Amino acid sequence: MRLLVSLLSVRRCGLLRLRPATSSTRLACLRAACPRNCCKAFPLVEVEAKEASCGVLLTQQLEGKTYLQRHKGACIHFNSGLCSVYSSRPSSCREYPWYRINNVLYVDRGCPGIQESGLGDRLEVEDLQEMARYYTTLPRWLRRLTIWLQVHW
Ligand code: SF4
Ligand code: SF4
Repeated sequence: MRLLVSLLSVRRCGLLRLRPATSSTRLACLRAACPRNCCKAFPLVEVEAKEASCGVLLTQQLEGKTYLQRHKGACIHFNSGLCSVYSSRPSSCREYPWYRINNVLYVDRGCPGIQESGLGDRLEVEDLQEMARYYTTLPRWLRRLTIWLQVHW
């Protein structure tokens, strides 16, 4: 339930508007100036077991999964507009704003830093894990609906 509430919260911020990344997209992150800052907007940022075991990330357990802790409305590692654990940030953060859904590359069009032009520094689909990994605690039908809504709604 916390996961779905989190998803709705992110959508209200204007993020998770996923569209196929068919053109050459690149990320020019607005960092602290971003009006939809993802480090604040995502209440639940998942951390994989091997990432949590490195001892750098401050995590919490919720509903059987590991997430970054929060502090004052943002990720606990968000400090003065920057990521204080950049080199150790979880793959959830490394991969954003690109996602892999059924082996197709998608990009979050809600991210204000996405640009169409340029040589592109986007991740390739084979660099990403399937988006379904975030929703393994949901029933299969709800997982599929959740992903479908992010692409079509
Ligand atoms: S939403 Fe996009 S532009 Fe804004 S802080 Fe996140 S990655 Fe950068
Ligand atoms: S770990 Fe860094 S990049 Fe990831 S949400 Fe926290 S501050 Fe942002």
